[in-house]
Amino acid sequence: MGTKESFYVDMSTSCSNVTGSAHLENVRFPNATNTKFLVDCGLHQGKEECSFIHGKTADDLNQMLFFNPEGISFTLVTHNHVDHTGRLPLLTKRGFKGNIYMTEDTRVLLPLALNDSQKVLRDVAKRNNKKPLYIDTDVENVLRKAQACKMEETKQIDDHIRVTYFNNGHLIGAAIILVQISYPEKEDINLLFLGDYNYKNIFLDLAELPQWVKDLRLIVVTESTYGYMDSSEINNCFEENILSCLHDGGTVVAPVFSLGRAQEILYVLKELQTLKELDRSIPVYLDGKLCFNYTSLFTSGKLNIKPSMIDFLPDNLTFVDKTTRDKVLHGKEQKIILTTSGMGNYGPAQLYIPEYIRRPGSMIHFTGYTAPDTLGGRLKNTPLGGTVQVGGLVVEKNCLVEYTNQFSAHAKADELIRFLKEFKRLELVLVTHGEEKSKEMLANRIVKEVKPKAVGIFDSRYLFRVNAYGLVKTMSTKYL
Ligand SMILES: [Zn+2]
Ligand SMILES: [Zn+2]
Repeated sequence: MGTKESFYVDMSTSCSNVTGSAHLENVRFPNATNTKFLVDCGLHQGKEECSFIHGKTADDLNQMLFFNPEGISFTLVTHNHVDHTGRLPLLTKRGFKGNIYMTEDTRVLLPLALNDSQKVLRDVAKRNNKKPLYIDTDVENVLRKAQACKMEETKQIDDHIRVTYFNNGHLIGAAIILVQISYPEKEDINLLFLGDYNYKNIFLDLAELPQWVKDLRLIVVTESTYGYMDSSEINNCFEENILSCLHDGGTVVAPVFSLGRAQEILYVLKELQTLKELDRSIPVYLDGKLCFNYTSLFTSGKLNIKPSMIDFLPDNLTFVDKTTRDKVLHGKEQKIILTTSGMGNYGPAQLYIPEYIRRPGSMIHFTGYTAPDTLGGRLKNTPLGGTVQVGGLVVEKNCLVEYTNQFSAHAKADELIRFLKEFKRLELVLVTHGEEKSKEMLANRIVKEVKPKAVGIFDSRYLFRVNAYGLVKTMSTKYL
């Protein structure tokens, strides 16, 4: 068989460790034509510890697309987190002409996320005297190309490629994406992208992945955010911690992510009120404009939330804006404040944390991952009575600062392994989207416990050539 007749996909990614998810698939057909498509196109964020990227900031990495957008036929989006969607406007700005496919709920949520990301990038660029990565018309162009797909309904994208979106508990609207590539008289090449994955979500009724998918000959791309940790290691302490602080008369400030986490914490507070463990007379405040907009969408009926969860807001809840913030910030009465951003270094959290951290008896309770270079991360290493810098301010840490990973939206290593074991014919599993240690630990466990035909660590250093029967070869890339 000559090379002309070969039928394969070259799979590559810009993902270094956790952020900046963008996968390029280059399909080579036996008639020597090519189709290129993308899965996600996200922003690099913050400082990432990464042994193979030298001296490049997130900003540098964001400017670099490792492909020509004009040559891309279409883009598939797994979910509405900016590390997966935040560079879509850069694609349209640089000449991408195709459709962008996503679930119905992601289609509803995406405008909020991209408009916010555009404003954040604009402000950062202004501060650094630089041009922004993209502007509002680039965002509008993305939204014009956005096509909604129904869950579990197969869409024929072109003559050879069909795509199906399946439920994923990571986030409302999140999906697992199956891409099936066919050619006459050849066996299909099946690629399954888990995106960021979780098997559960309190707001969603999640149908199991159908058996016909589990029976396919598959190449799977899996995340590994918690590849180093089992679900038994989760620290379920949030309710106990905040109730103990409130019982002693203190105020709780909980930094939250605006989509998913904020709404889940609101539900937890409502549950505590129902159980009479939390007194309804203690006011609950939610501050953060994007967070307010997402919360309004959750209650609007425009999203596929399970009916029993539409009514998730606690009693005595007030949304805070610029005009009412001062009273909440400086008032002496006891309260619970939920505020963005989740790691404490953007949004109104930058005001609430320095105000309440110096008040003995109050508590700052982080509700998710805090990167080491963020305020949440730095507070971890600040002893009680020590000082910390917030913006230009130096403040004394007099209150308790607590952390929990109980609300994580990512499956843990044992849960990923359990899920992967359900597949009957795994030809290749590619491990991506995690710290280097996480990727390695999960990949090693998959080799031993899942036993697919091949396992690879997938980051910007390697390209994997695959056909219907799995791995053909790996190559080093020149990118970065
Ligand atoms: Zn995500
Ligand atoms: Zn992600």
